[in-house]
Amino acid sequence: MAKLDLKKSIRDIPDFPKKGIIFKDITPLLKDKKAMKASIDALAKALKGKKIKYVVGIESRGFIFGTALAYKLGVGFIPVRKKGKLPYKTRRATYALEYGEDTLEMHEDALKKGDAVVVVDDVLATGGTMKAVAGLVEGFGAKIKLIAFVMELSFLNGRDQLKKYPIASVLQY
Ligand code: AMP
Repeated sequence: MAKLDLKKSIRDIPDFPKKGIIFKDITPLLKDKKAMKASIDALAKALKGKKIKYVVGIESRGFIFGTALAYKLGVGFIPVRKKGKLPYKTRRATYALEYGEDTLEMHEDALKKGDAVVVVDDVLATGGTMKAVAGLVEGFGAKIKLIAFVMELSFLNGRDQLKKYPIASVLQY
């Protein structure tokens, strides 16, 4: 499926969750079996030639694409969750939002030194979320082989915060 077609299954919702944000709604893409398959296939293609042990996915839309990608690659999946959701002992990363801050957590035994991973989320916006997660992952001594997004909002220059990592995005805006 051409990238142009895939963009047609992303719905823009203006002023959600607040004024000035154009929210990229992935539910039409998820509902369409061809678009869903094409997006996972495109993520897998970006990993061609890279040996990965785990897919690390960020709550919550990173879980949808991340688990499907892990299944396709035949590797395990590791969730990065919002504060207070994981039941075992955790490591956390706190990062700044436009107003206030947020915390993401991983189980303290999620990764081992040298584990090769791809980190997945749906949207690269400012890059703050992914920067925090990448730091958390590297704190375990794991190796980030790729950071992958379904959509990249290029005009927000999120890549500037992630310069030290290889990055792939399926759709660019
Ligand atoms: P950021 O930390 O600014 O790169 O924001 C990334 C996170 O916010 C991702 O997990 C996205 O799911 C979400 N996000 C940011 N902007 C949008 C948008 N325009 N549409 C949908 N999700 C977004």
